[in-house]
Amino acid sequence: MTVKAPRGTQDILPDRTPAWERVEGAFREVLERYGFGEIRTPVFEHTELFLRGVGESTDIVQKEMYTFTDRKGRSLTLRPEGTASVARAFVEHKLYAGPRPWKVYYLGPMFRYERPQAGRYRQHQQIGAELLGADSPAADFEMISLFTRLLAAVGLTGVRALVNSVGDAACRPAYTEALRAYLREHLDALCPDCVRRVEMNPLRVLDCKVEGCRTVAAGIPSIQDHLCADCRAHQERVLALLREAGIEVAVDDRLVRGLDYYTRTVFEIQHGGLGAQNAVGGGGRYDRLVEEVGGPATPGVGFSTGVERILLALEAEGVPLPGVRPPEVSVVTAGGDREREAALLLAHRLRGRLRVEVDILDRSLGNQMKAANRSGARAVVIVGEGELASKQWTVKDMVSGEQAAVPDADLEKHLFDMSRDQA
Ligand SMILES: [Zn+2]
Ligand SMILES: [Zn+2]
Repeated sequence: MTVKAPRGTQDILPDRTPAWERVEGAFREVLERYGFGEIRTPVFEHTELFLRGVGESTDIVQKEMYTFTDRKGRSLTLRPEGTASVARAFVEHKLYAGPRPWKVYYLGPMFRYERPQAGRYRQHQQIGAELLGADSPAADFEMISLFTRLLAAVGLTGVRALVNSVGDAACRPAYTEALRAYLREHLDALCPDCVRRVEMNPLRVLDCKVEGCRTVAAGIPSIQDHLCADCRAHQERVLALLREAGIEVAVDDRLVRGLDYYTRTVFEIQHGGLGAQNAVGGGGRYDRLVEEVGGPATPGVGFSTGVERILLALEAEGVPLPGVRPPEVSVVTAGGDREREAALLLAHRLRGRLRVEVDILDRSLGNQMKAANRSGARAVVIVGEGELASKQWTVKDMVSGEQAAVPDADLEKHLFDMSRDQA
């Protein structure tokens, strides 16, 4: 019996990791340009954190968490998202007493029990950023513009932002009641989950993918008509800044995002260089979250996206992704034990600066040359009896086919120049 990786997980093999590193590296570089530092939080947390910090009525908490009891009977959960942990760390380390805003990003696996489908895994690699301690439209602008720039940096085109406001404590209760009143008239058309949502959090009916619910949602009152003056002014300022920066943006009054803690701005980023628009992530403002997890009232805004979805998007747009980098040098030997040992030691020396392959399987010279050819190495260094006697190495250029005798003292420089030519 063979054991396979659990459903919804995947191995990222060495030929694929360079593409992941390309995305993650491009993100890190841009995030640091915007003044975000990396935070690494535990992969599991007390379950209570997510009950409070994600919301008990959400699908995540209701259906999707990997929760287990440890040996002391404590309830722990593999993190389903990153924001709650960031808020917990902010409170736990009393960072609210420090300089503001606090800007962090995270990169790591998140865990959700959901039906695996293209670009969605039960363990997926998420990249997110959070900005805590600023309630201004400028903060929302900074996050949305940062997100669009991250996607542009990895090579996605046709990037645009969809923005909505979900209101605040002043205007949301009245809208929620208007929404409830409307939905109560359509209960028989809603799925069982949405019937429950009508009382718990009716805004989330807008997120439901079930056909009947979508039909009902199409007729709901628009939250844009129910925003108070402050929420409206906030949104107008965010939109004006984005347009001023040349970022394509549209208001979508059906956009609410899945989480309970959002206030005012929510957003989604789409790309569609090849036509159809596809969402690659989103986020929003969460002015009550830090209080929910036990800290002082602190506004915040953040977003997240998944590396798997970005890679799918890049492939769909035909953006070339890097593969394995070939060795720069292959050291081969024609001789016996003495030459084989010299080849090993030479490879050891060259690996101080270069990517080098050397035979450790006692293969024949012919098979070593075949392997060198397959590996894509630009240069082959031949170690034979004559080379050891003359202290000159035979270096073959695998592109031109030319051979040169290179004095030992010049070998590194010679190979380094060849490899730069290769790059
Ligand atoms: Zn539904
Ligand atoms: Zn409001």
